[in-house]
Amino acid sequence: MSQGRVYLVGAGPGDPGLMTLRGREVLATADVVVYDALISERLLDYAPAAAERIYVGKRASRHTLPQDGINALLVEKARAGATVVRLKGGDPFVFGRGGEEALALAEAGIDFEVVPGVTAAVAAAAYAGIPVTHREMASAVGFVTGHEAEDKADSALDWDALARWPGTLVFYMGVRNLPAISENLIAHGRSPDTPAAAVRWGTTPRHQTLTGTLATLPQAVEEAGLKAPAVILVGEVVTLRDRLQWFERRPLLGRRIVVTRARAQASALAERLESLGAETIQAPAIRIEPPDDPEPLAQAAREAASYDWIVFTSVNGVEAFFGALADAGLDARALATARLATIGPATTERLTRFGLQSDLQPETFTGAAVAEALAATGDLTGEHVLLPRADIAPKDLPDALAAQGAEVSDIIAYRTVPDTAGCDAVAQALEANEIDWLTFTSSSTVRNVVAAVGADRARASRARIASIGPTTSATLREAGLEPTVEADPHTIPGLVVAILTRETA
Ligand code: SAH
Repeated sequence: MSQGRVYLVGAGPGDPGLMTLRGREVLATADVVVYDALISERLLDYAPAAAERIYVGKRASRHTLPQDGINALLVEKARAGATVVRLKGGDPFVFGRGGEEALALAEAGIDFEVVPGVTAAVAAAAYAGIPVTHREMASAVGFVTGHEAEDKADSALDWDALARWPGTLVFYMGVRNLPAISENLIAHGRSPDTPAAAVRWGTTPRHQTLTGTLATLPQAVEEAGLKAPAVILVGEVVTLRDRLQWFERRPLLGRRIVVTRARAQASALAERLESLGAETIQAPAIRIEPPDDPEPLAQAAREAASYDWIVFTSVNGVEAFFGALADAGLDARALATARLATIGPATTERLTRFGLQSDLQPETFTGAAVAEALAATGDLTGEHVLLPRADIAPKDLPDALAAQGAEVSDIIAYRTVPDTAGCDAVAQALEANEIDWLTFTSSSTVRNVVAAVGADRARASRARIASIGPTTSATLREAGLEPTVEADPHTIPGLVVAILTRETA
């Protein structure tokens, strides 16, 4: 068997957007991912679903591998022919023992590649509004371990040199030893008035910054109960934060919002909320699966040219229908004679990915509005209308069309199946009152979340409820849950605006 290869990849400081393109590229090829604590779950999703995921980080309650064990694991997996991604926080060669891992690989004759990452010092400072260098304030920046500051006499660090350092100092792993760091620097001549900051969970929704001086910061950190992971920044540049703060101004920073959509779609909502500073918990309440009997959809695809109208009421319906079309050896040309209707902008947009424009999209995005808009185009008597929809889609649309004389083919294009995997975490967080918002984008997400988490738990918590529109709100009320806000328009952007309006009122 040919030997595999190990990629030592920097995952960046926490914000999943700060991993490099190369990192994501190699992650997508991984057979095995070996990852640490502080790695965003979101990044692991870039690895193939079938890849083996091995956690080796330190976590208080868990038994994890010592460094020798990690080195041996990398060598063993690569020798067995696997493509191994060793995913490490920040940059792999900055205080991550990545150097040791690379040496072990080199010694074992294993092929490896290093993918650098955005290191915590630079990123946490930037998100706190602190440039680590500045032409007039700091012409050098030093990365220092705070781990070895414990004992003044025994310290492996040259405090004399550090105190005289002509620029910014950033201490990693320094929270516990901050009193010693501060004392040492002052004792060796750095002014006690030197501005200093601690940034915890930099670049993430839990991002927190404390500022002071070399003399005052230890006490501020102690009083605030600020713990690892944090970097300590020392130098004049810290004062620039007053003018350069940006990340901490985001309106939803620190809010925890549950996003309940089928996994493939959760990201659009999550991305918008996150860009406003929120932390999202993706609890995919439903999973999309093919129909139990694929033949009706396959037949509808083969006979696509025989329909007068094809009405798409969801992105999943579009995907499923075009999948069936491709399976039948056909493409968009089979729809040349049919007119196409879509329920709303996301569905319309998805259609354009297959090279097609929607002929009709109603003003409001409900089944009833689609039926009305279709009727408004002319007499529907005898018109063949195809509805490739979910197994659980409500009957009002086909009934309304049939009442207008249309010949409706209501076809199951996909099934929505409850997916309870993510719901345990949500249940726990609700009980601990750690959730600010629950978002619902369809009636099926309401039913599935209620089934998995329980309406009582949601009612008992302080979590607010955001609904995408009247149909979803009605389902919520049936479950005894009153929506705090309802989106208008009934779209993902509308939902975000509704939450934001409420939060900033
Ligand atoms: N290789 C990593 C550092 C690993 S050492 C890098 O290049 O960033 C772990 C230390 O990094 C933590 O103790 C803390 O000091 C710092 N750190 C990592 N992530 C951080 C974050 N998001 N915010 C602040 N400090 C962080």
